[in-house]
Amino acid sequence: MSDDADVVIVGGGPSGLAAAIELRRRGVARVVVLEREPHAGGIPRHTRHLGFGLRDLGRVLSGPAYAARYARQAYVASVDVRTETSVTGWDGPRTLAVTAPSGRGSIRGTAILLATGCRERPRAARLVPGTRPLGVLTTGALQQLVYLERQRVARRAVVVGAEHVSFSAVLTLAHGGATTVAMVTEQPRHQSHGALVWATAGWRGVPILTDAAVTRVLGRRRVEAVEVTDLTSGATNTIACDAVVFTGDWIPDHELARTGGLMLDATRGPRIDLALRTSERGVFAAGNLVHAAEAGDVAALSGRHAARSVQAFLGADVWPAAPPVPIVCRPPLRWISPGAIGVDDRPPRDRFVLRVATLVEDARLEVRQGEKVLWRARRRALVPARSIGLDAAWVRTVDRDGPEVTVAIVDA
Ligand SMILES: Cc1cc2nc3c(=O)[nH]c(=O)nc-3n(C[C@H](O)[C@H](O)[C@H](O)COP(=O)(O)OP(=O)(O)OC[C@H]3O[C@@H](n4cnc5c(N)ncnc54)[C@H](O)[C@@H]3O)c2cc1C
Repeated sequence: MSDDADVVIVGGGPSGLAAAIELRRRGVARVVVLEREPHAGGIPRHTRHLGFGLRDLGRVLSGPAYAARYARQAYVASVDVRTETSVTGWDGPRTLAVTAPSGRGSIRGTAILLATGCRERPRAARLVPGTRPLGVLTTGALQQLVYLERQRVARRAVVVGAEHVSFSAVLTLAHGGATTVAMVTEQPRHQSHGALVWATAGWRGVPILTDAAVTRVLGRRRVEAVEVTDLTSGATNTIACDAVVFTGDWIPDHELARTGGLMLDATRGPRIDLALRTSERGVFAAGNLVHAAEAGDVAALSGRHAARSVQAFLGADVWPAAPPVPIVCRPPLRWISPGAIGVDDRPPRDRFVLRVATLVEDARLEVRQGEKVLWRARRRALVPARSIGLDAAWVRTVDRDGPEVTVAIVDA
């Protein structure tokens, strides 16, 4: 079975749905969203707590209410949302191979938008040795078991990580009747907001072990303990628990981008310019696929931004002939998104998002192109795993025929 549409969007999370709704609002006729799960809405469907929707909807909702709102708006806007439909690869330029309950087929879009989100790095990818017992999870898996399947997952859990999502895992564990006996981070401090830390872990007395790592999982059938190593002294300690939750340390769901031959960059997602064009004509990318991981409203606004660019492409059928100017981060900065500057001069929300590998206090950030300094600013602290916003006003001064743009910490 083969099919076609004006725009085919892969992923029915906040970014994909927001893009689809905006495309319909702009009069694009045939907008199809392909979503592998039984329901559209993405990660927020199983993130029960409040905290979604401020920047895109102007209100604060729980994850499921936020997801339901986007799914309903897509329905009202006559977006063709096809659930239980997985995109498994490419069948040609702008043509996707799909598997659905009705069988296998393909769908061609005049434009394609990849909005496949990101996932947490699981234990195997973090190379944590030990046995392979039951009870080793990521936050995503934990939330699906607790909130969607109402299972009792653990009694005593260790959470690996201390970024925003790690504290969400503490909440989910508590909701599922489990105690978090420790959080373990390799960083010298947690990477979240003080208020969130207090509201989730602080008042519950959950210890946060800093400069430490889970170095072994112990247990035969079920997790019985984890070994924790102090990264400063090398001393080890064993903590009894029946579950260990690996949180954060995000990686974009980039398989389709990779198999489609799109250029990737330091984000490990597809390299995009300010209009969210990838390196392949007619293929765009948005949401946490291009910045793993930002908040849901940031992902949705990125989808809306992509919709404007997609509509412009559909209308004029033009694609920049010259490659965009790449933006390169100098360590300890890890990545910037968007990672290239083409003909346009406004990224989503008029800002770039950036990540740093290690904690840097009192940092002076500098953007330059060759010898020319384009922008400078001081920041009190750059915290790993936390979003760093960079005003985009300097983009207008970039020489589109010039060398790469660099972003660096020049003084700390
Ligand atoms: C535990 C946790 C707590 C969070 N708390 C908050 C919060 O309080 N506030 C907030 O604003 N944000 C929060 N977030 C972040 C928020 O969930 C994300 O920013 C948002 O979901 C990103 O949207 P997205 O559309 O880019 O990706 P996703 O929501 O991940 O959606 C991507 C979709 O693509 C689908 N997909 C992927 N590959 C394919 C394929 N090949 N074929 C078909 N479908 C595919 C997936 O099934 C998924 O539905 C939280 C995230 C987590 C994990």
